[in-house]
Amino acid sequence: MSKDNNTSKTGINTRLAHAGHDPRSFHGFVNPPVVHASTVLFPDSATMVSRDQKYTYGTYGTPTTDALNSAMNELEGSEGTIAVPSGLAAITVPFLGTLSAGDHLLVVDSVYGPTRNFCAGMLARLGVETSYYDPSIGAGIEALMRPNTKLVHTEAPGSNTFEMQDIPAIAEVAHAHGALVSMDNTWATPLFFRPLDHGVDISIHAATKYPAGHSDILIGTVSANKLAWPAVWNSFTSLGVCAAPDDSYMTLRGLRTMGIRLARHQESTLAIARALEGVAGVAKVLHPALESFPGHALWKRDFSGSSGIFSIVLDVADAARHQTKAHAFLDALEIFGLGYSWGGYESLAVHANLSDRTVAMPPKEGPVIRLQIGLEDVDDLMTDIERGLKAAKSA
Ligand SMILES: *Cc1c(COP(=O)(O)O)cnc(C)c1O
Repeated sequence: MSKDNNTSKTGINTRLAHAGHDPRSFHGFVNPPVVHASTVLFPDSATMVSRDQKYTYGTYGTPTTDALNSAMNELEGSEGTIAVPSGLAAITVPFLGTLSAGDHLLVVDSVYGPTRNFCAGMLARLGVETSYYDPSIGAGIEALMRPNTKLVHTEAPGSNTFEMQDIPAIAEVAHAHGALVSMDNTWATPLFFRPLDHGVDISIHAATKYPAGHSDILIGTVSANKLAWPAVWNSFTSLGVCAAPDDSYMTLRGLRTMGIRLARHQESTLAIARALEGVAGVAKVLHPALESFPGHALWKRDFSGSSGIFSIVLDVADAARHQTKAHAFLDALEIFGLGYSWGGYESLAVHANLSDRTVAMPPKEGPVIRLQIGLEDVDDLMTDIERGLKAAKSA
C-alpha cells in the first residue's frame, strides 16, 4: 500500500491497474471492500486510549479511503493524500490548513472561479488577504511576495482559457520566501503532470473529473509532500470533511481505466482542436498542445500529455453580439450537452464567463466556448461543432 512499493518504477497504465492495491489484506479479493462506517470497535479500554489501533473512527479514514489515498500517493509521489467531498473542498481544506489571520495569499488570475469566491468571502472574513497574479508571471512573482505571503496557489492550464504557468520558477521564488505552493492539477491528472516533482507542495484534484470519469460523483483529493502534509491532515481532521465510502470506491475504480480513457480524450481533442484552427468563424483555439498557443513551450517542457477540454474563441468583433452568437452556437448542438463540469465520457459545451478576471483578461476576438471532448466518435463531434458554427454565423 505504501508509495515506495516496486510498482512506482513501472509504466503508468501498470501503476493505474495496481496502485493502492492490497488484495492479501482482503482475503485475496481483487478490490477493497466498501466500508460504511462511523464507529470502529476496540478490543479493550487500554487499546482505546493507546492510539495503537490503525482505524479509530470513520472520519479519520477506512480501508476504502486508504486504498484510494494510497493509489493517489503512488501516482503523485506524495507523503499523504486526503479524500474530500468535492473538488472545491480539495481547494478550501488546504487553504484553511495553511493560512491564518494576517496572512497573504497569491492566486493565479485564471483560477477555477469558485476558488475566487472562497478567497473574497470566507478567507477575507477570517483576515486573509488575496492578490491575483498573471499566469505568465514566472519568476516575476518575486515582486508580489510579501513578508506575510504564506501560500502561492497555481493552476495550469488555467480554467477556461488554458494559460500555462512556469511552475518550477514560481515554486523556487515562493520557497525562497518561506511560502508553500499549491496547484490545482485537475486538467493534467497525475498522468500528464506530477506537481510535487516540480516544486509544488500540495497537489489538488477535482477527482470528480477524470478519476471518477462518469459525471456521477463529486470528490476531491489533496496530495501533499512531507512539508505540507501535517497542515493538510490537521485541516482535514479538524473540519470533518471526509469523502463518502461509495464515492471513494467508485473513484478508485475509475482510476483503473483512467489511462485508456485519457488516451482517447487526448487523441480526439487534439484532432478536433487542430481541425478547428483556421476554420471560418473560429478566431482562436485555446489548447496548450497546439504549437500556436502562447504557453505551448511550457506545456511541452513540463507536461507529458494533454486531456480533453479546450476552448474556441468565436470570431465576433462586436462585443454586444457575443452572447447572442455564443447562445446560437450552443443551442444548435445535438450531441454536446450544455452543462458544467467535465471529465466524463460525454461531450459538453459552455459559454465561459470570464467577467471575474482582473489581470489575465479574456480574448477580445469573441466569446469563449469551452468544449469537453468525450468518448464519442470524432466525426460526429465535428459535425455537431460545424452545426454550431453555422448557427452562430447566421444568428
Ligand atoms: C471542477 C473543478 C473543480 C471543482 O470540482 P467539484 O468537484 O466540481 O467541486 C476544481 N478545480 C477545477 C480546475 C475544476 O475544473
